[in-house]
Amino acid sequence: MASSTQTLEFQAETRQLLQLVIHSIYSNKDIFLRELISNGSDALDKLRLESLTDGGLDADTSDLHIVLDIDQEARTLTVRDNGIGMTREDVVDLIGTIAKSGTATLLAKIKEAKDAAAAQSLIGQFGVGFYSAFMVADKVTLRTRRAGTEQGTLWESDGEGTYTIAEAEGLPVGTSVTLHLKPADGEDGLGDYLAGWKIRQIVKQYSDFIRWPIRMAAESVAESAGTDADTEAGTEAGTEAAPGPETLETLNSMKALWARPRSEVTEAEYHEFYQQISHDWQPPAETVHMRAEGTFEYEALLFIPSHAPFDLFSRDTKRGVQLYVKRVFIMDDCDALMPNYLRFVKGVVDAHDLSLNVSREILQHDRQITAVRRRLVKKVLGALKDVKTNKAEAYTALWEQFGRVLKEGLLEDRDNTDALLELVCAASTNDPEKTTTLREYVERMKDGQETIYYLSGENRAMVENSPHMEAFTAKGFEVLILTDPVDEVWTDQVPAFDGHRFQSIAKGQVDLDGDADGEGGDEAKAEKAQREQDFAPLVSWLQTALADHVKQVRLSTRLTTSAACLVGDAHDLTPTLEKMYRAMGQELPAVKRILELNPTHPLVTALRKAHETNADDPALADTAELVHGSALLAEGGDLPDPARFTRLLTERLTHTL
Ligand code: ADP
Ligand code: MG
Repeated sequence: MASSTQTLEFQAETRQLLQLVIHSIYSNKDIFLRELISNGSDALDKLRLESLTDGGLDADTSDLHIVLDIDQEARTLTVRDNGIGMTREDVVDLIGTIAKSGTATLLAKIKEAKDAAAAQSLIGQFGVGFYSAFMVADKVTLRTRRAGTEQGTLWESDGEGTYTIAEAEGLPVGTSVTLHLKPADGEDGLGDYLAGWKIRQIVKQYSDFIRWPIRMAAESVAESAGTDADTEAGTEAGTEAAPGPETLETLNSMKALWARPRSEVTEAEYHEFYQQISHDWQPPAETVHMRAEGTFEYEALLFIPSHAPFDLFSRDTKRGVQLYVKRVFIMDDCDALMPNYLRFVKGVVDAHDLSLNVSREILQHDRQITAVRRRLVKKVLGALKDVKTNKAEAYTALWEQFGRVLKEGLLEDRDNTDALLELVCAASTNDPEKTTTLREYVERMKDGQETIYYLSGENRAMVENSPHMEAFTAKGFEVLILTDPVDEVWTDQVPAFDGHRFQSIAKGQVDLDGDADGEGGDEAKAEKAQREQDFAPLVSWLQTALADHVKQVRLSTRLTTSAACLVGDAHDLTPTLEKMYRAMGQELPAVKRILELNPTHPLVTALRKAHETNADDPALADTAELVHGSALLAEGGDLPDPARFTRLLTERLTHTL
């Protein structure tokens, strides 16, 4: 055998890449195992395929598997498969060279990269695969025999520049890769890869859904349960001396439900799988299972949970979608696949044509991934719509859980505004017991009503009792009651639903008569003009008296029982938004609002009389301030100077007694 041993040099580029890999490009060294298992799995796929297409191939495919062997004494970990194997030429071509195009350019770019993160993201464009073994091993021995051939090959290298290659006799079909492990060192990120529990954990995390069994000697498994390692496990000498299946345990579940056709998966299996990935003991509200074929193949299995996690609104909530590549786990929290407002969606996307080393940065800029994400979003929104259409009650519950997050989508995702608006539910003056959809609101709109009326505030009672509501209630116009902080923002930014604009009833002028019955009659117009004239002196006096607080005073058409209310111009910030921006540290000029007076209210008519009698009465100015303060309180606002307001009020009350 020695006579045929050859020492060869790695191709220059391979050597450079090896150096990069060894010198800690990856902070997470555990991934070497996922790479070797994935190679083994590919080799098993290839053998099965070849045995099906090439009837003459003499290969046993009855028990295709991967075995992991730990040898405590020799300090080795071996990954063995009974797959397709390699010929000597294969080994030189595939393992000794990096035959992939663009390696040289890639390496040049990596060298130019400013920092480790940039280098890592570049290297993600290129699978380092097999070479990742050198992150944890200072020597790697590969034994392999190609199915259908007799001659085995032994390859060995310390990753430093050369490798040896020799003939090997008596090898079974398949490949074994033996890693002579570097000493474990927590600081270097090197785990203890001789510990059965560690290997088991890595397999569970990265390779659980590999479709072939991944086995390990039961001793090593037992050790993970806490019993002392039985050193008999280390007596195994050759790769061919495989222990009987009775002493081996399968580490992976192999249950990649997403890869099975929908029709073959039971509801119970979906639930079990959901539980496994979400740790949620309640069944999901909806399941989306899809497969895309063509230039970019992938499978997706997504779940809409039935209830929100407790940390849905914490700053660092993770997204729930995991990325797999050909059943190999790549990452949790794959933000490139799901927008932030769908962060509650859980599941798996298995993309077939990505490198195992693909990084977040690359995913963010990948056009295919962007297309996948677009499609997944449509699917999820479609699934929500299905629930809404078919299971109204369940939908109400879902909306309660996730409505607030979905509304963030109205700000983030302009492409799906319409689909999202179809999902929106809101409390409404129509029925205190039930929320309404926008579609239902529009169907109930009065003849001639063009806009969707809403009022936002801190809570339902406050909104319902707000003076702004009065005329709308009196004239039978339905108003949406919006109480989420995000409502103020989206109603401002979303142009319209089904052609109907959103209009806050606390903003701008309202002309309900015009809205409901077309043009008001001439008589009404004349009456209005007369009123304006009668109140003009009071209005202009108030405007001066309250100049510090409001930008305008005018007569109102929206009040029936209150004396006054405050409204904003159509494009003014609402008080809530103003508060929000200030809380975020933004400097804003004070937003002054408009005071509207109810000309039919006894307080206002009395005020007018008092003003006509003696415009200089100091009590008049106090009353003006009280009217303004009360309007502010009525809508749940904060008084600028509560002590002063209370003093004025007390004085006024004392006078009346
Ligand atoms: P990749 O898997 O992305 O092709 P790797 O560096 O992991 O890159 O492997 C390089 C090649 O070596 C594989 O494409 C395969 O042809 C061959 N190879 C590696 N491991 C095995 C194995 N266990 N059995 C057969 N061929 C293998
Ligand atoms: Mg590989």
